[in-house]
Amino acid sequence: MKDLLIMKFGGTSMGSADRIRVAARISMEQQRQRPVAVVVSAMSKVTDLLLESLLRAEAGDRAGLDANVQKLQDRHVECCHELLPKTKQEPVLAGIHFLISEFQRIANGMMMLADRPPRSADEAVAIGERLAALLMAAYLEAEHIHSVAINASSIIVTDAVFGNATPLMTPTREKARRNLMPWLEGGALPVITGFNGATADGRPTTLGRGGSDFSAAILAAVLDASELWIWTDVDGIMTADPRIVPDAAVLDTVTYAEAAELAYNGAKVLHPRTLAPLADRQIPVWSKNSYALDKPGTRIGMPGNTPGGARAVTSMANVALVSLEAAGAELSGTRLMARALDALTRANAEVLAVSSSSYRQNFCFLVRREELSGVMKALEETLSIELAHGYIRPISVDENVGLLAVVGEGMRGVTGLAGRIFTAISQEQVNIIAITQGSSELTICIVVRRDGLEKAVRAVHTECGLGRRVRETAVP
Ligand code: ASP
Ligand code: MG
Repeated sequence: MKDLLIMKFGGTSMGSADRIRVAARISMEQQRQRPVAVVVSAMSKVTDLLLESLLRAEAGDRAGLDANVQKLQDRHVECCHELLPKTKQEPVLAGIHFLISEFQRIANGMMMLADRPPRSADEAVAIGERLAALLMAAYLEAEHIHSVAINASSIIVTDAVFGNATPLMTPTREKARRNLMPWLEGGALPVITGFNGATADGRPTTLGRGGSDFSAAILAAVLDASELWIWTDVDGIMTADPRIVPDAAVLDTVTYAEAAELAYNGAKVLHPRTLAPLADRQIPVWSKNSYALDKPGTRIGMPGNTPGGARAVTSMANVALVSLEAAGAELSGTRLMARALDALTRANAEVLAVSSSSYRQNFCFLVRREELSGVMKALEETLSIELAHGYIRPISVDENVGLLAVVGEGMRGVTGLAGRIFTAISQEQVNIIAITQGSSELTICIVVRRDGLEKAVRAVHTECGLGRRVRETAVP
């Protein structure tokens, strides 16, 4: 389909009747010019509420569960009342009640079992997106736009890793052709749930927290869309987190690789897995602010006239550094590394940075703090014999650290840049614990003491000249 535009609205862009009206208006305006499909997140904070409700169900907390369900219902019913004319409310209210009773049914099951099976959790938590899609499609219809709410479980086919599933692109393309294309060809503006999918045999899955961006990218890729616009509540991709660096600037353009590195290293604006399906097909992405429609946002695309040097600095505070060291010659450092990586794979944990020393046969790696307990359990199991025999030293964990990443395609081959960055950090009296640079030379990752992290980010931002003036000098 020619000129297809996919637009994704995040939780804050769907957070109230007013916000849904804005999102709908943006969608309608674009749809006057070309085919549009919309992907929506749950209303802001709803996913957290749903997940918390399931924890309460598992714990047998009936009162807590009921209170949460009431909140969920009130929020959506109120939104429906505000959003739609009286005459159009009834079927939508019925839809809301149906979806909420579905949620209750699953939560009650968990309460009875005192368990929270991952696939039931995925089915339950996707109800947030289904509620949001229902409201948005109903509003579009009330505005005389032919629309339909579509559950992505009928389109996006994934593997069976519940809670963090990966799409299978070929069957997804097939299903999109069958279940979504006819709506677009019929002139409709479909509203599709973000975040969820289903296995080939129909078991509901989700793509991980913040996964609606990824949903939109998957759909853009399989439908060969001409563009993807991701609507959030910030002006685009920035040179740093403005809460840490007041002088941070919005970038006009970044490459797919830069945006992906920024997302993986802690920039919150995009789900890290979003860019891979788009980069393959060179589908341009815009990150835009639905609260500031006059701002152009950031364009993510192929490298063009990439400015030299660094483009942005990110940081992550909730991380932990795990160190392993062979005690003697019985176990080689390489074998130790292999065994540890195997354990990390089993724990389904993501390694943010690795550093090793062959002389001392030790190596350390950085993981998210929320994954630490799973990582430790997997390491202790995998290495139980080595630990029991004293072939390796006790595993050490340092939680008093933070990760800083400097990203830019233009850093490749710039001599002296790394030295300048390290010097800038040291001048702030911040201790550098580990340094890694991928072979792509796109990103330098630096692990520092936690209490020096923000200072280090500001120092690097200044040293690399990333303040607001980047905006004026960047090549469009
Ligand atoms: N609602 C889901 C979440 O909060 C997905 C998303 O917003 O992208 O994680
Ligand atoms: Mg998001």
